[in-house]
Amino acid sequence: MGGTRGGAAGLGQRWARPGQGLRGRRKTRGQRQPNSTQFEMGSQVSVDTGAVHVVIVGGGFGGIAAASQLQAQNIPFMLVDMKDSFHHNVAALRASVESGFAKKTFISYSVTFRDNFRQGKVIGIDLKNHTVLLQGGEALPFSHLILATGSTGPFPGKFNEVSCQEAAIQAYEDMVKQVRHTDGCGAVWAGQSAVALEQGDYLGGPHGCQNSLRSAESLGGETQDSPLNTCVVCLCLFQVTLIHSKVQLADKELLPSVRQEVKEILLRKGVQLLLSERVSNLEELPLSEFRDYIKVQTDKGTEVATNLVILCNGIKINSSAYHSAFENRLASNGALKVNEFLQVEGYSNIYAIGDCADIKEPKMAYHAGLHANIAVANIVNSMKQRPLKAYKPGALTFLLSLGRNDGVGQISGYYVGRLMVRLAKSRDLFISTSWKTMRQSPP
Ligand SMILES: Cc1cc2nc3c(=O)[nH]c(=O)nc-3n(C[C@H](O)[C@H](O)[C@H](O)COP(=O)(O)OP(=O)(O)OC[C@H]3O[C@@H](n4cnc5c(N)ncnc54)[C@H](O)[C@@H]3O)c2cc1C
Repeated sequence: MGGTRGGAAGLGQRWARPGQGLRGRRKTRGQRQPNSTQFEMGSQVSVDTGAVHVVIVGGGFGGIAAASQLQAQNIPFMLVDMKDSFHHNVAALRASVESGFAKKTFISYSVTFRDNFRQGKVIGIDLKNHTVLLQGGEALPFSHLILATGSTGPFPGKFNEVSCQEAAIQAYEDMVKQVRHTDGCGAVWAGQSAVALEQGDYLGGPHGCQNSLRSAESLGGETQDSPLNTCVVCLCLFQVTLIHSKVQLADKELLPSVRQEVKEILLRKGVQLLLSERVSNLEELPLSEFRDYIKVQTDKGTEVATNLVILCNGIKINSSAYHSAFENRLASNGALKVNEFLQVEGYSNIYAIGDCADIKEPKMAYHAGLHANIAVANIVNSMKQRPLKAYKPGALTFLLSLGRNDGVGQISGYYVGRLMVRLAKSRDLFISTSWKTMRQSPP
């Protein structure tokens, strides 16, 4: 993990001349052109921020943390995301069952970052010309690049589509309607059962399990605004089955006592668990859509009749933006190999943070924020010729929220119970932290 000092200076290449990389393309509103006359690659980096223009690809937890720090330090940057608003996906599953909640989970980028935000899908990186290529032909020049494209996964846990805020919120409100079937007499829980599927996770990480658990938890009915009001009523009318291919629930890095408690909480909530069973007819199943009858089959011959199937089988690294540029810098799951300073191996001015960085730790929003701190500090340090900061993965902290009033977790290797998890996470799911980072007030 040998690191490189000196930011872009380490490349031994010349900056794109003004206009280069934008040839024949529209210049983005508010976009500053880096001043190439002051910034010769292979020489010392100028501290003049006029020579610096950071492009951040991906406005997830890592991207918004990096953008707000650059903004606070007056360092020129452009945040690019295919969506027009940040998605607080940590609360995506509550938004799927609680009407009116989704609007708290999408936060406009342009209100916070104004002309420093550009909506667009990145389809490639031109390493020779130091530009980020957008669908539609536009190219954004960079002196430093932060790749924060995160991961994709099945809806409703993730929402990775080119979309506007209104449509994204509506997708979750529609999901709430699938979960609750409304008749002419008023809102009732029409589903007799729902199935959350866990088929093993792509990353070998926590998300598959977390998603399943959150789905099961959410469908279990601790939805305070529910027309039926109490979780007890919901549980009576609504059977949730969680199918999981492994014998134990939750992440393998968690303490056995935490994993056991997860199981017990779900059982107490009335969730039916089918463990060590794998769904065998997944391709035929309608996902996230209420139906009068759906038959789910497992490899052990079990059949479950249900009305709604929610897929929670893990996430995949979203490498489409950088795959062709960094083909030989990719781990087998598509994550970017980075050194201890979070620089993509071999590139002193390109950083990878969050889920798309190949770091041996669970993929978590919290970690993405810590990575952003390091990447921004190192961009500043490289400009000022200071030593770079190394990233050191810390002890595992994991809070599993199981409804608004329940949960379990571990902090630095120690078991923490319901009260702590409830106070620290379950009520708010860290939504207020994201609104604070975006310096906006929640609706
Ligand atoms: C249901 C669920 C619950 C979770 N709960 C927790 C939790 O409680 N605590 C926790 O710490 N972590 C949790 N996580 C994990 C956490 O959400 C992720 O680790 C976190 O989102 C990673 O942040 P990121 O910035 O790397 O990427 P992401 O949040 O995935 O964001 C990536 C962004 O990049 C954009 N993007 C991708 N490709 C392109 C492209 N080509 N062009 C333009 N834009 C692009 C996407 O639109 C997206 O906005 C949960 C995840 C899920 C799915």
